[in-house]
Amino acid sequence: MITLTEQERSEYRNIWVLAETQSGSIQPVTYELVGAARTLADARQSEVWAVVLGSGVAGQAETLVAYGADTVLLVDDARLAGFCDEAEARVLVRLIKKYKPEVVVGAATFRGRALIPRVAVMANCGLTADCTGLAMDSETGDLLQTRPAFGGNIMATIRCSNHRPQMATVRPRVMKAPVPDENRTGRVLVESMLDTDLDKMKKILQIFHNKEAAVNLSDARIIISGGRGMKGREGFDLLRRFAAKVGGAVGASRAAVDAGWIPYAHQVGQTGQTVQSTLYIACGISGQIQHLVGMQHCDMIVAIDKNPDTPMMQMADIAIQGDLFEIIPEIMNEITKL
Ligand SMILES: Cc1cc2nc3c(=O)[nH]c(=O)nc-3n(C[C@H](O)[C@H](O)[C@H](O)COP(=O)(O)OP(=O)(O)OC[C@H]3O[C@@H](n4cnc5c(N)ncnc54)[C@H](O)[C@@H]3O)c2cc1C
Repeated sequence: MITLTEQERSEYRNIWVLAETQSGSIQPVTYELVGAARTLADARQSEVWAVVLGSGVAGQAETLVAYGADTVLLVDDARLAGFCDEAEARVLVRLIKKYKPEVVVGAATFRGRALIPRVAVMANCGLTADCTGLAMDSETGDLLQTRPAFGGNIMATIRCSNHRPQMATVRPRVMKAPVPDENRTGRVLVESMLDTDLDKMKKILQIFHNKEAAVNLSDARIIISGGRGMKGREGFDLLRRFAAKVGGAVGASRAAVDAGWIPYAHQVGQTGQTVQSTLYIACGISGQIQHLVGMQHCDMIVAIDKNPDTPMMQMADIAIQGDLFEIIPEIMNEITKL
């Protein structure tokens, strides 16, 4: 990697968000990232650019501006239908060289994980994947990229002082989407694809979802989550009944998944899903850091545990101490009476 001089670094400006699109529509994680980028850009007195690549995506610009983008950089081309990471990477690197963004942020989704490391290598810069926090050093323009490190035992804040652009990915639901403001105004810049972008193009024509991966905790408003304290599969049957009663989804700690009591698709945390539900009820989950990073932004957290001193009981909005096998049926009975 080539170290840039201070003069060269000062040529880089603005915060870019690589929009995540699917079949021509912008995915919600993009708005979460635009909200985070807005805070970074304001600290640096620069602009938020949303970069949208795809086919039939031109109509999305206004919404991105409403969420906080100042400029929408569009490459709308029928040849970008589906997902072609090689071609998209070539287009993005070309645009990065032309406009020199100070920061490029993308989503840590399966598309982002295929595309963004490729861009980072081609743009000759580093990448901090799966950040849980982003902040800006307004003096230097250094992006402070926080993420779990050393097996999740510490949270590390990473700076790339000598290289530009600085690139980071963030998982869906880690950041909160801002409230859109329909009165905001912005500009749209249109760029074209070049034939050279299409060189040796590999294209993914169809994406299949397996049934297990379809457990969508990230959109659930209520999550009833169980840990080692559930004692076995029967414990999770109780949680499923509880969840059905309140219209919620079932989550789990890694300990419960590793024990084979519930499939991996239900796991919440660093190596599972990140959730941001209105209500998260943690049953028999002690709340180790690797679990907390996946659910700490839920609006209301209720913990049920025998031990009042666990991290989960300490951080919960409501902590209920006792045997969950007595407490959960009691709560379910009370709900039935309503
Ligand atoms: C690299 C790495 C990644 C990881 N990723 C994740 C991840 O994504 N998600 C994740 O969850 N973990 C993850 N872990 C594991 C994590 O460190 C913890 O081991 C795990 O979260 C513990 O699960 P738990 O809280 O269910 O179990 P425990 O820590 O054993 O807690 C069980 C709790 O149940 C309570 N309890 C027991 N019986 C009852 C009862 N009858 N009534 C009420 N309470 C009861 C106990 O008091 C205790 O607080 C990861 C670890 C590593 C090293």
